[in-house]
Amino acid sequence: RVKQEGGNGYRFFTPELNTLAVGRLETESGLRRAQEREEFAVYYQPKMDLESGAIIGAEALLRWNHPERGPVSPVEFIPILEETGQIEQVGEWVLKTVCTQLRQWQDAALPPLNVAVNLSGRQLQRNNLASTIGTILDATGLDPRFLELEVTESMLMHDAPYAVEMLMQIRAKGVIHIDVDDFGTGYSSLSYLKRFPIDALKLDKSFVDGLPCDEDDIAICRAVIALAHNLKLRVIAEGVENDAQLAFLRDNGCDVIQGYIVSRPLPADAFAQLVRQHACMPGRGAGSDSPR
Ligand code: C2E
Ligand code: MG
Ligand code: MG
Ligand code: MG
Repeated sequence: RVKQEGGNGYRFFTPELNTLAVGRLETESGLRRAQEREEFAVYYQPKMDLESGAIIGAEALLRWNHPERGPVSPVEFIPILEETGQIEQVGEWVLKTVCTQLRQWQDAALPPLNVAVNLSGRQLQRNNLASTIGTILDATGLDPRFLELEVTESMLMHDAPYAVEMLMQIRAKGVIHIDVDDFGTGYSSLSYLKRFPIDALKLDKSFVDGLPCDEDDIAICRAVIALAHNLKLRVIAEGVENDAQLAFLRDNGCDVIQGYIVSRPLPADAFAQLVRQHACMPGRGAGSDSPR
């Protein structure tokens, strides 16, 4: 790969590049062993309903605990899993882990929870994704309406007719909650939005960041909320960190929030504990005392 770039072949093969390439190779081979060595874990970040203040579910987020390097950010390793194709296997493991966990929480009489799993483009492009999901739902005995899926605009737009068909097949398995992640940051086509069988838009953190002061972010957030509601979609705001952002979103009719203000992503047991505590609190949740 490096050879093709320079005239004499090795022009760009600097020590720095060497280190980078070796680091990347190490990460790749580390990832290949990660699954059998059980270094992957699923964390759960709460989603809070703004009307009731209840925790209604979570987003499942993959974590890689490297034996020497410690926790590695998914922003670093998910793209590698995607390039090597390993994401298909790991993604299936995440789906299985989440469905199994949800069944356990239901058996332990936790309040009803929806957990959202992020899909990657490669998973969606596989023509057997719907049947894979069906098999996992059958094996775990989970009622499909508790499984939620997150897809991005670019995944939908890559081959829109195919994506519509695939999401229809998944919906036919009883999975009714499909969210568009990072909404507004990718290549959007509003005309296609109405053709996809989706039920929520996730307002991206980059727009939430500037609330409640930045004029542009205010305009974008209001527009996305209005657009979603007019299309009969719910709005989930991502990356909500402070009370002022929360108040703005509440006042502007946002349905659900997710962010550090509620909690960081947590290991399964800590998340279950949070849900139990939260359900017992009379004035439930962040900002629930502020007037609507
Ligand atoms: P995402 O799906 O948009 O997930 C939201 C990200 O925002 C998560 O980062 C979450 O920890 C972070 N976040 C949530 N609230 C806050 C907040 O208040 N402040 C800040 N600063 N950050 C917040 P994370 O866990 O690092 O994941 C990054 C991305 O990696 C995800 O973005 C998603 O695209 C991808 N990813 C994670 N798990 C999976 C997975 O199982 N499969 C696939 N295909 N992708 C995944
Ligand atoms: Mg997501
Ligand atoms: Mg997102
Ligand atoms: Mg994001």
